[in-house]
Amino acid sequence: MTAQLSIQPKHLNVPTMTITETAKATVPQTPRQQRRPIAELLAPLDELARQSPNLVANHDARFEVNGEAYELPRYLFVGPRGGDTPIRVGIFAGIHGDEPEGVYALIQFIKLLETRPELAAGYYLSFYPVCNPTGFEDATRLSRSGKDLNREFWKQSDESEVRLLQAELVSRSFQGLISLHTDDSSSGFYGIVRGATLTKHLIEPALQAAEKLLSRDARPIIDGFRARNGVIRDAYDGMLSAPPKARPRPFEIILETPHTPPEYLKEAAFVASLQTILAEYRKFIAYAPNI
Ligand SMILES: [Zn+2]
Repeated sequence: MTAQLSIQPKHLNVPTMTITETAKATVPQTPRQQRRPIAELLAPLDELARQSPNLVANHDARFEVNGEAYELPRYLFVGPRGGDTPIRVGIFAGIHGDEPEGVYALIQFIKLLETRPELAAGYYLSFYPVCNPTGFEDATRLSRSGKDLNREFWKQSDESEVRLLQAELVSRSFQGLISLHTDDSSSGFYGIVRGATLTKHLIEPALQAAEKLLSRDARPIIDGFRARNGVIRDAYDGMLSAPPKARPRPFEIILETPHTPPEYLKEAAFVASLQTILAEYRKFIAYAPNI
């Protein structure tokens, strides 16, 4: 295995990086013509980015799978100035390839920001809409190498997607992380909170915003974890998260939509939650004591 990694300074400089590695073919491949096309999916965002003063598309995080070229698509949205240093938040979707709702929702959300940039005032938002490109193409939870990428973080994983995302998590030092998922065993919307203590104050308004569109999962046990009012505080080991040594801890929120409601409602619930989290966290930053 050979790996090359170069990361430039964060903020407005867009990092370029390349990882090449000899992939191991362990999973039968989906015939190419049956794959979900990622380039078509992202074309509207790339078109927007060409004309937008706020949105930057970056297609330089490349890797190979069984000799085929892939990339981890990245979009940066620089909100209008909020007065202080921009708040850096990373927003992730599609790490499970069979959960396209989050992917579509992020595309909708970026389009919304483009028409209403003030929603991102004070923010520097890094979007990773397709964290598992081969899984998205194949409509499988696992990546084509047969791995659940959301169990691989901070464990010396050899998976290129994980290593690229970890490099982003280190170099961007996010103040907040939001991941979007779909739970086919749930009948309602819910969230998982980790990281900074204030996270619990962000999740309730986010769930209330989603609740206008989708009911909340009120069960006491969700996905095997204890839950209260649709909030879980435990999580699986190896999930996409801030670097273990990152201090101060960023807020970390995982939003989970149920699988069965119509597509437009799931997307709208995600978009409403994201909008709410940004608005609420901006308030926290404004009230935080200046030390
Ligand atoms: Zn998932």
